[in-house]
Amino acid sequence: MVERPYFAMPYRGIFRVTCPTPFPGLDHVHVYLTDGPGGGVVVIDTALPFGDSYARIEQSVRWLGRELTDIETIYLTHAHPDHVGCSGLLQEASGASVVCHPICAENLERMQTPDRWERMAEIYIEHGRVPDATPPAFATRGGFEMSLPTSVTTIDEGDVVSFAGGDWDVYWTPGHEHGHVAFHRRMDGVLVVGDTVLGRITPHIGFHGDPPDPLGQFLDSLEKVAALDPSYVLPGHGRPFDEGAERARSIAAHHELRLRRCIEILTRRGPLHAMDVARGVFGRDVMFFEERLALAETLSHLEYLRLRGRLHRELVDGIWLYAVPKLVP
Ligand SMILES: [Zn+2]
Repeated sequence: MVERPYFAMPYRGIFRVTCPTPFPGLDHVHVYLTDGPGGGVVVIDTALPFGDSYARIEQSVRWLGRELTDIETIYLTHAHPDHVGCSGLLQEASGASVVCHPICAENLERMQTPDRWERMAEIYIEHGRVPDATPPAFATRGGFEMSLPTSVTTIDEGDVVSFAGGDWDVYWTPGHEHGHVAFHRRMDGVLVVGDTVLGRITPHIGFHGDPPDPLGQFLDSLEKVAALDPSYVLPGHGRPFDEGAERARSIAAHHELRLRRCIEILTRRGPLHAMDVARGVFGRDVMFFEERLALAETLSHLEYLRLRGRLHRELVDGIWLYAVPKLVP
């Protein structure tokens, strides 16, 4: 019997290929394979061309008795490297259309412009981070290469797409990434959720200047998922799970706590820049790569509060300092 350690069928007719990633703390990502309405193969998310990811996808398609040339559509849940990195290779091998939200399509373009990383580094410095002596590996693509599609077709909330023998409603679920979509099958309540709701970890919600309120959008997306009350959730990372509504609510509660923690820290020690708040929230031992994530995540919380009048900020010597508004007696 052939061993298929990275290949599984987590739901009837929907197959999962688990691929490696170079990211510390998140060492894998799932690619889903299923039947398309045209008799070919549908791929949802594509992993990164890192390690043997591409070979795993190719081998898994063969285990289904198909070839890469049989791929008819490639759906992308969102424009993060671990979800889109092999999409160009797969499109090239199959001629399939790559389909995603219009904002995801824009972000695929932006991923290829180096000044995006420079702008992000500037934002981090404005918020108290000590500039890097050398750019991070991911900014120079030292850590991995991506292969992005040459053409993209877009879908938006309200559209219906077909795969795995059913019709799936498209939902826009921004927050983790601005062009994120999830697919919900009304017939049985299955939700292909990307990274909007994960089983064990909370998805990273980072502020990078644009859009201005990723956390606010994410909390709305969680409400959307909770309202769907999915019967079964197929996520981008980790195990599939039921109790999707409950999980969405518990992730929202986690952010509520973190918002309160930011207010607490600023009430006690403010005004502070976001990097100092991040150290207060995450502890001083935030590591090189994690430091950026911790800062971007904390900023999404601080900006959420500021946009709702619960914090204000002031530019002092080129650095934004956040504070709790003083009550005037
Ligand atoms: Zn992911």
